[in-house]
Amino acid sequence: MCNIVKADLNDIFVVTGQCPAQQQLLDYVQGKLSAAEQHEIEKHVADCELCSDALEGLAAIQQKERIPVVVRQMKWQLMRKLRRQSRRKRRLGHNIELALIVMVVLFLLLAAFWIFYFVNKK
Ligand SMILES: [Zn+2]
Repeated sequence: MCNIVKADLNDIFVVTGQCPAQQQLLDYVQGKLSAAEQHEIEKHVADCELCSDALEGLAAIQQKERIPVVVRQMKWQLMRKLRRQSRRKRRLGHNIELALIVMVVLFLLLAAFWIFYFVNKK
Protein backbone atom coordinates (compact mmCIF):
# COMPACT_ATOMS: atom_id res chain seq x y z
CA MET A 1 0.00 0.00 0.00
CA CYS A 2 2.69 2.39 1.04
CA ASN A 3 4.83 1.33 -1.88
CA ILE A 4 2.06 2.04 -4.39
CA VAL A 5 1.55 5.55 -3.03
CA LYS A 6 5.27 6.16 -3.16
CA ALA A 7 5.44 4.91 -6.74
CA ASP A 8 2.51 7.14 -7.68
CA LEU A 9 4.16 10.17 -6.16
CA ASN A 10 7.36 9.27 -7.94
CA ASP A 11 5.48 8.98 -11.24
CA ILE A 12 3.83 12.36 -10.78
CA PHE A 13 7.15 13.95 -9.96
CA VAL A 14 8.91 12.42 -12.94
CA VAL A 15 6.04 13.24 -15.27
CA THR A 16 5.70 16.86 -14.18
CA GLY A 17 9.46 17.21 -14.44
CA GLN A 18 9.26 16.23 -18.11
CA CYS A 19 6.23 18.33 -19.01
CA PRO A 20 6.68 20.24 -22.23
CA ALA A 21 6.02 23.96 -22.26
CA GLN A 22 2.54 25.10 -23.18
CA GLN A 23 3.94 26.73 -26.28
CA GLN A 24 5.31 23.34 -27.31
CA LEU A 25 1.88 21.78 -26.80
CA LEU A 26 0.35 24.59 -28.87
CA ASP A 27 2.91 23.96 -31.59
CA TYR A 28 1.97 20.28 -31.43
CA VAL A 29 -1.74 21.08 -31.84
CA GLN A 30 -0.93 23.34 -34.77
CA GLY A 31 1.28 20.66 -36.30
CA LYS A 32 4.38 22.85 -36.21
CA LEU A 33 6.63 20.28 -34.55
CA SER A 34 8.95 17.83 -36.23
CA ALA A 35 7.96 14.17 -36.32
CA ALA A 36 10.41 13.34 -33.49
CA GLU A 37 9.16 16.16 -31.27
CA GLN A 38 5.59 15.21 -32.05
CA HIS A 39 6.29 11.61 -31.08
CA GLU A 40 7.87 12.71 -27.81
CA ILE A 41 4.87 14.81 -26.87
CA GLU A 42 2.49 12.00 -27.83
CA LYS A 43 4.48 9.65 -25.63
CA HIS A 44 4.40 12.13 -22.75
CA VAL A 45 0.71 12.99 -23.10
CA ALA A 46 -0.19 9.31 -23.03
CA ASP A 47 1.29 9.12 -19.51
CA CYS A 48 0.54 12.62 -18.22
CA GLU A 49 -3.05 13.48 -17.40
CA LEU A 50 -2.13 17.11 -16.85
CA CYS A 51 -0.73 17.51 -20.35
CA SER A 52 -3.45 15.42 -22.00
CA ASP A 53 -6.01 17.77 -20.42
CA ALA A 54 -4.01 20.78 -21.51
CA LEU A 55 -3.72 19.37 -25.02
CA GLU A 56 -7.46 18.73 -25.15
CA GLY A 57 -8.10 22.33 -24.09
CA LEU A 58 -5.68 23.67 -26.70
CA ALA A 59 -7.25 21.48 -29.38
CA ALA A 60 -10.68 22.85 -28.39
CA ILE A 61 -9.33 26.40 -28.74
CA GLN A 62 -7.91 25.50 -32.13
CA GLN A 63 -11.31 24.19 -33.16
CA LYS A 64 -12.97 27.37 -31.90
CA GLU A 65 -10.60 29.34 -34.11
CA ARG A 66 -11.70 27.14 -36.96
CA ILE A 67 -15.38 27.97 -36.33
CA PRO A 68 -15.56 30.94 -38.73
CA VAL A 69 -14.46 28.61 -41.52
CA VAL A 70 -17.16 26.13 -40.53
CA VAL A 71 -19.75 28.92 -40.44
CA ARG A 72 -18.58 30.10 -43.83
CA GLN A 73 -18.94 26.56 -45.16
CA MET A 74 -22.44 26.32 -43.70
CA LYS A 75 -23.36 29.66 -45.25
CA TRP A 76 -22.00 28.51 -48.57
CA GLN A 77 -24.00 25.28 -48.37
CA LEU A 78 -27.13 27.27 -47.49
CA MET A 79 -26.54 29.61 -50.42
CA ARG A 80 -26.09 26.62 -52.70
CA LYS A 81 -29.32 25.12 -51.36
CA LEU A 82 -31.17 28.38 -51.93
CA ARG A 83 -29.72 28.72 -55.42
CA ARG A 84 -30.82 25.17 -56.17
CA GLN A 85 -34.31 26.01 -54.90
CA SER A 86 -34.53 29.16 -57.00
CA ARG A 87 -33.41 27.14 -59.98
CA ARG A 88 -36.23 24.71 -59.24
CA LYS A 89 -38.62 27.66 -59.07
CA ARG A 90 -37.35 28.92 -62.39
CA ARG A 91 -37.95 25.46 -63.86
CA LEU A 92 -41.48 25.61 -62.46
CA GLY A 93 -41.97 29.00 -64.15
CA HIS A 94 -40.74 27.48 -67.38
CA ASN A 95 -43.31 24.69 -66.97
CA ILE A 96 -46.10 27.23 -66.56
CA GLU A 97 -44.91 29.00 -69.71
CA LEU A 98 -44.91 25.69 -71.56
CA ALA A 99 -48.42 24.89 -70.29
CA LEU A 100 -49.61 28.31 -71.47
CA ILE A 101 -48.13 27.74 -74.93
CA VAL A 102 -49.76 24.30 -75.12
CA MET A 103 -53.09 25.81 -74.06
CA VAL A 104 -52.82 28.58 -76.66
CA VAL A 105 -51.92 26.06 -79.38
CA LEU A 106 -54.84 23.83 -78.34
CA PHE A 107 -57.16 26.86 -78.37
CA LEU A 108 -55.95 27.86 -81.85
CA LEU A 109 -56.43 24.29 -83.09
CA LEU A 110 -59.92 24.24 -81.61
CA ALA A 111 -60.70 27.63 -83.19
CA ALA A 112 -59.33 26.43 -86.53
CA PHE A 113 -61.40 23.28 -86.27
CA TRP A 114 -64.48 25.37 -85.40
CA ILE A 115 -63.94 27.74 -88.35
CA PHE A 116 -63.32 24.77 -90.65
CA TYR A 117 -66.55 23.17 -89.37
CA PHE A 118 -68.55 26.38 -89.98
CA VAL A 119 -67.11 26.90 -93.44
CA ASN A 120 -67.93 23.30 -94.40
CA LYS A 121 -71.47 23.66 -93.05
CA LYS A 122 -72.13 26.64 -95.29
ZN1 LIG B 1 2.95 16.51 -18.59
